[in-house]
Amino acid sequence: MNLLLFGAPGTGKGTQALALVSHFQLHHISTGDLFRQASHTQSALGLKVTSYINKGRLVPDSLVIDLMRGRLKEFQKKKEDPGSADQIKKKEAGKGFVLDGFPRTLAQARALDLLLEELGQSLNHVFYLKVDEALLLERLTGRRVAQKSGRVYHIQFNPPEKAGYCDESGEKLIHRKDDRAETIKTRLQAYFRETAPLVGYYKNKGLLVSVDGRPEAKEVFLQIKKILLSSGL
Ligand code: AMP
Repeated sequence: MNLLLFGAPGTGKGTQALALVSHFQLHHISTGDLFRQASHTQSALGLKVTSYINKGRLVPDSLVIDLMRGRLKEFQKKKEDPGSADQIKKKEAGKGFVLDGFPRTLAQARALDLLLEELGQSLNHVFYLKVDEALLLERLTGRRVAQKSGRVYHIQFNPPEKAGYCDESGEKLIHRKDDRAETIKTRLQAYFRETAPLVGYYKNKGLLVSVDGRPEAKEVFLQIKKILLSSGL
C-alpha cells in the first residue's frame, strides 16, 4: 500500500503520516524532515537547502527529485532484498510507503510517476487534507515539534503534558523557524501557486480522496482508516 498525503502546510500531514506508519507498518518519507535533517547536520545537501527552508520557499525541483529518487530506490532495494542491512526496516519496507510533503509541484508529480513506473510501483491513494486558511494560520503559529520523536504539538489545541517538552521522548520542543508568522505567508503563497494544481492532477488520475482536515487528529485518522479499510487495502 503506497500512499500520498497532500495539503497545505498545517493541514496535519506529518501527524497523519505518523499514525499511518504505526497503524499499517508503512515507511514514512517526508522531504521536509529529510531537508531539516540535512540542514541540521550541515551536509552538502543541507548547505544548499537551508536558506530556502528558512525563508519558506520551495527547494528547487532538481534537488527534491534527486533526493526522492535516492530514497525510493533505497526503499525498493530493501523491499526486494529484506536481508540487507540498511536504514529501512524490513517490516516497514514490506508494506509500502507514505509520502508526506512530496510532490509539491507538477514537475515533481511527473517525476514521481516516472520513478514509480521505473520501480514497478504505483500509488494507491492520494489523501487531500482540507483545512481553511484561517485555521491553518492558527495551527502553524502555535505548532511546536519534537525533532527526535517527530511528534507535533500545538500550544493551545494539543499541548504536551509538561509545557515545552515531548510526552514521548522528553526532548525540548522547538518552534520551527519557518513556523513564524512572516515565513508562513510565503509558505502558503508557494502552496497556492505551486502545489494546489496537483489537486486536478491526481483527480484526473482517479487517485484523489478528499478528507476534512479540520477536526482533531484522531478523528481525521478515523476518516482515513475507514477509507483504506473499505477499499480493501
Ligand atoms: P514541510 O515540513 O513539509 O512543511 O517542509 C518544510 C520545507 O522544506 C518547505 O517549506 C520547503 O522549503 C522544503 N520542502 C519540503 N518538501 C519539499 C518539496 N517537495 N519541494 C520543495 N521544497 C520542499
